[in-house]
Amino acid sequence: MKIGVVGAGISGLAISLAAEKAGHEVVIFESESDIGGRMSSIRFGPYIIDIGFHVLHTAYPSLHRWIDFSKLEFEEMEKCTESINPDTGRRKILADAISMPLKLFPTLRATGLRDGLRLLRWRLASNRKDIESPLDFKSKKIMDGFKERGFSDNLVQNILRPLFAGITLDPDLEERMSFASFTWAAMSLGSMVMLKDGIQAIPNQLANKLIITQLRLNSKVDAVSSTTITCNKQTEKFDKVVLATPQNVSFQLLNRKPLKKVKKTATIVFNSPKNPLSRHRLLINEKYGLNGNKILHAHLHPFHPQLVIATVIGEDAESLKDNHDEILSEFETWFGKQVREWEFVAVTKVDNALPLIDTEHKGRIREPISDKGILLAGDYTTHPSVQGALFSAERVIDHLNIPIPDKTINATSSQT
Ligand SMILES: Cc1cc2nc3c(=O)[nH]c(=O)nc-3n(C[C@H](O)[C@H](O)[C@H](O)COP(=O)(O)OP(=O)(O)OC[C@H]3O[C@@H](n4cnc5c(N)ncnc54)[C@H](O)[C@@H]3O)c2cc1C
Repeated sequence: MKIGVVGAGISGLAISLAAEKAGHEVVIFESESDIGGRMSSIRFGPYIIDIGFHVLHTAYPSLHRWIDFSKLEFEEMEKCTESINPDTGRRKILADAISMPLKLFPTLRATGLRDGLRLLRWRLASNRKDIESPLDFKSKKIMDGFKERGFSDNLVQNILRPLFAGITLDPDLEERMSFASFTWAAMSLGSMVMLKDGIQAIPNQLANKLIITQLRLNSKVDAVSSTTITCNKQTEKFDKVVLATPQNVSFQLLNRKPLKKVKKTATIVFNSPKNPLSRHRLLINEKYGLNGNKILHAHLHPFHPQLVIATVIGEDAESLKDNHDEILSEFETWFGKQVREWEFVAVTKVDNALPLIDTEHKGRIREPISDKGILLAGDYTTHPSVQGALFSAERVIDHLNIPIPDKTINATSSQT
């Protein structure tokens, strides 16, 4: 069978790899000059910087079917988040007390006993055997879900709202509480790791196993049908066409109504001689969204500890990406005058960072397997995560009746 795949993000690459291993002829069309999509990393001089703050959750079951972790170099983030009150510079700790029992008392000091017990109850509700199971139930929106779980306004404003705005890349938190419970389970039951070669090491591992598949970079697809792909004014015929593009592009190619909102994020990277972030933890802004506080969170580059990386989302991503002085002024309220010695290193930005969610939707699958005969993959067809993207790929692979390839076979050994 000749299969045309549009998009060389993780979902398109997984489908292509499985199809190639099953003996099919595959052509991938990718609009950019490299593979990876939203799991891309960029080299700035000696540094590899992800296009946005991106961690790999080891609790995602699908990752273990595709990725050989023994071939990755990574740093584990501590199971502990810090928050900062920029008005006072005071920091608090929120640790997973089951994994880090020594941090139980600082955590309870930060949250209070009531919120501490409620967070623990939420953690204990995580289903180890099926972390996606919350998605199967009807759910409230995230902020209403926090209320239902009885969290105090303080905990919501200072910790949960900025934390989940970062996870959903949406200042309005227009997501389902069930998705928050899925990510809470992933954070509780596994580790969050950051990769030495950047998050792109993950899609690269799949791409490097492709042997005979044609990967056409810089090839923006303009139209698709169930049996054709049109690119650079040339139309080519296929037995099957798979659309593995982000939601906004898929909607355009499927002639659906354009999306009403775009989820944007930018990261701004500084070199700091005396980095105030010394641990692999996220430092979230307790006052995010209030009184002109625009930085959502900051973290340390896991392999270049002198780098501070600030994350901004929504319209702030647009306005601040080229306004490093404003970021530095805000950081000055966090860390004092030392930030005047910081040097700007790089900025990255992603528009359409995550799909828009129908918050009424129930279920881990959000799109039918095909639209007008075109097979659909990508995180918007399931849920907005690497787990969702790989699950969407496995759904297409299953539909094509082909197996998931053995992840331990690399390109060289499969050639012999
Ligand atoms: C900043 C950021 C941080 C994230 N952090 C996390 C995280 O910590 N944990 C987590 O689980 N998930 C995270 N995600 C989500 C995760 O990265 C995505 O869900 C996943 O990468 C989506 O993969 P995909 O294959 O569906 O789409 P994509 O990666 O978007 O791949 C689609 C590909 O299609 C290509 N394309 C687009 N238009 C065309 C066209 N016309 N013709 C040809 N090719 C085209 C694109 O260039 C791209 O390569 C994050 C996302 C972002 C942006």
